[in-house]
Amino acid sequence: MKSSKQFSLRKNNSFNVKSTSPIVYFPQTLSDLESLPDLSLNPFYILGEGSNTLFVDTQAPIIIKPDFKGIDISETADNYFVRAGAGENWHNLVCLCINNGVYGLENLALIPGSIGASPVQNIGAYGVELSNFCVEVTWFDFSSRTVKTLDSQECCFSYRDSIFKNAFLNKGVITEVVLKLSKKWQANLSYSGLNELPSDANAKEVMDKVISLRQAKLPDPDQLPNAGSFFKNPVVSVEKLASLKTIYPEIPFYSQDNGNVKLAAGWLIEQTGLKGYRKSQVGVHENQALVLVNHESDYGKDILGLAQFVQQEVHKKFEILLSPEVRMITSQGERQFIDLPMVDWDK
Ligand SMILES: Cc1cc2nc3c(=O)[nH]c(=O)nc-3n(C[C@H](O)[C@H](O)[C@H](O)COP(=O)(O)OP(=O)(O)OC[C@H]3O[C@@H](n4cnc5c(N)ncnc54)[C@H](O)[C@@H]3O)c2cc1C
Repeated sequence: MKSSKQFSLRKNNSFNVKSTSPIVYFPQTLSDLESLPDLSLNPFYILGEGSNTLFVDTQAPIIIKPDFKGIDISETADNYFVRAGAGENWHNLVCLCINNGVYGLENLALIPGSIGASPVQNIGAYGVELSNFCVEVTWFDFSSRTVKTLDSQECCFSYRDSIFKNAFLNKGVITEVVLKLSKKWQANLSYSGLNELPSDANAKEVMDKVISLRQAKLPDPDQLPNAGSFFKNPVVSVEKLASLKTIYPEIPFYSQDNGNVKLAAGWLIEQTGLKGYRKSQVGVHENQALVLVNHESDYGKDILGLAQFVQQEVHKKFEILLSPEVRMITSQGERQFIDLPMVDWDK
């Protein structure tokens, strides 16, 4: 199996911070995975394209970077089935499908990252989530050294969540994902911005619109390093919403099936006055307060300090604790945000 020692991860994280791993393994086949050393006593991290990852320390743990390749499209009378290797790029798959007349993924265009990471946080955008299409995830289990296939229910998908972030965390590697796309395609134009399109818009037109909306709203990590939305949209009770509405009648909210409401984390941050804030060569994006950007820092610690500061300011104003969508990776492996030492932000 290909591996590389003292590997710089700078080009493998969309925050573009410095971090070096003692060794990176690049498994491409099941026999590569079977030949991985037993890592149960060592901190390690499974890395896709690093677009949802913050390397907090300049030393990273051991990295497994799955490089399973291949895309196969098959069909039945009613559906297409798309099988893709974990190491393929998500957006390339979306384009390939649309260009081959396989529709349904257009609302998820331009989401950065790998196929292997897509089920982990159940990627979603413009009113659509991976779980709407994902019918099977192939998974290599470290302890039994065998491959399992999980159906959609077994993946326990929910908003930005799945079994891979919970019970299966660090227990194995996703090698392949299978998506089912109906031949009876219907555009999903419910989300704001897409409703400007005519109701008979085709999938390519929807994809182009999604791309142009995303490019207008979100900074390109190649120009201004970032990891997209840094925090998840918080879900609160209707009672909490009612008390917030007495002070902020214009607060945006989205009702959930379970009776709770989801608030817009970006709006909350904006109300603290932090939109466009900049310090220690990092900052809050000037157009999209939910995106933390790295202007020119080498260090993940600076992004962490900023994120802690934003979390505190939002908590002071709304008594709501934002929780990050981005994964926090230290030299000792992944850590929960609240367990990380506070960075001295007033220095
Ligand atoms: C500009 C920008 C915009 C974004 N917009 C969106 C958006 O609209 N919607 C959205 O949902 N996300 C969005 N994101 C976040 C990001 O695109 C997704 O989280 C994406 O799935 C990350 O893919 P990755 O390969 O870069 O994952 P990484 O950051 O490398 O890893 C993310 C997680 O997946 C795990 N993982 C990766 N590969 C595997 C594997 N093969 N097996 C097991 N675990 C694995 C990692 O351990 C980690 O926990 C955005 C990010 C950026 C930079």
